[in-house]
Amino acid sequence: RHFLDRIKTHNTELNAFISVCEESALAQAAAADEQLKNKTAGKLTGIPMAHKDIFCTKGVRTSCASKMLDSFVAPYDATVVEKIAASGMVMLGKTNMDEFAMGSSNETSYYGPVKNPWDTDRVPGGSSGGSAAAVAARLAPIATGTDTGGSIRQPSSLCNLTGLKPTYGRISRYGMIAFASSLDQAGPMAANAEDAALLMNAMSGFDERDSTSVEREVPDYTATLNDSLEGLRIGLPKEYFGEGLDPQVAATIETAIKEFEKLGATIKEISLPNTHLAVPTYYVVAPAECSSNLSRMDGVRFGHRAENPKDLQDLYQRSRSEGFGAEVKRRIMIGTYVLSAGYYDAYYLKAQQCRRLISDEFQQAFNEVDVIMGPTAPTTAFKLGEKTNDPVAMYLADIYTISTNLAGLPGMSIPAGFAEGLPTGLQIIGNYFDEGRLLNIAHRYQ
Ligand code: GLN
Repeated sequence: RHFLDRIKTHNTELNAFISVCEESALAQAAAADEQLKNKTAGKLTGIPMAHKDIFCTKGVRTSCASKMLDSFVAPYDATVVEKIAASGMVMLGKTNMDEFAMGSSNETSYYGPVKNPWDTDRVPGGSSGGSAAAVAARLAPIATGTDTGGSIRQPSSLCNLTGLKPTYGRISRYGMIAFASSLDQAGPMAANAEDAALLMNAMSGFDERDSTSVEREVPDYTATLNDSLEGLRIGLPKEYFGEGLDPQVAATIETAIKEFEKLGATIKEISLPNTHLAVPTYYVVAPAECSSNLSRMDGVRFGHRAENPKDLQDLYQRSRSEGFGAEVKRRIMIGTYVLSAGYYDAYYLKAQQCRRLISDEFQQAFNEVDVIMGPTAPTTAFKLGEKTNDPVAMYLADIYTISTNLAGLPGMSIPAGFAEGLPTGLQIIGNYFDEGRLLNIAHRYQ
């Protein structure tokens, strides 16, 4: 009730939630009370949470913040939703996001932009901006997000949260509406590392319904939170501190990193020379995959359907023209272009080669260092509307986060301090399945 009341009071202004599930939340809370009484409760029983509206939730609208799915009620739960429900947590509702997770500011949502609780003239970041604003404003203690190119970490940075994008394959993608399937990964958005670890415990694990799910034991992510950082080798890629990085953000990040020396870590400058290829590579791979994934939204099987179609062609054309927003259409057009027979080798194949180079150079770096640190985003939260007419400026908001998705590595953003009164995130990148170490580092820093 406390969180439902806070949502009632603050959601009109923040627009963090698309759907609030008051009745079912109270029923789940009552069931949790029973478990507490019967002493069958687990660590998370009764803890409220919110899901990004990209996860299918049985019986509850799952819109992906698109007009296309405005009336779509999922017939089944995503694995993440199922697992979190099984842990006893209470779902408060579904959070706002960029349409189909395409964006860095939450301004592409069909349901309108989300406001950053730290300054409501500013964006919360995206695409998991509703989850970020909800947790930052304490409308929910914790939320899920998804990260294809930075969508957990960048909004966490802009809203002062602890957000983790796990290794590709760690968390099931079943029932998570696909944007770019080879990059998408779900993760927790929390107030601190311990909360993130607890939600990771609930979310992670093998799922035979996701062919890219990795069959590997899930450690207890809370067990290593207090490990010593003595001897930890931190690499700082010089490419992450160059042109485009706001000097105030740079200063905050550098001060934060010095703290780790006091905790016993050693710091070393490294180089990831192909960093400049990450954004262009991503904006070939991600649109290519999205153009294929979104072809299922055809107005026939589910989703928005145009009225009085003349014929099948007209039905497809108008349903898609009316249902998708401008950014989604831009991506579909780029995607079909780079996949078309005449351009495939020049763009898509080349992007796959660049992806391999980016991935390989991370592995070389991990021969020398245990983790990589740098800023999560080049700036603090920008003003609403500031970048909406300049897609390239918007795309550059993810310049430091995109490489890890291309490589499939885990990455985390943690609160690093404030630059001119606005939150700044420190990014920590680890090697495959090193989420435990990232959470440990985040916890020791707090
Ligand atoms: N901002 C990036 C994009 O627009 C990443 C989004 C995401 O991670 N879902 O594609």
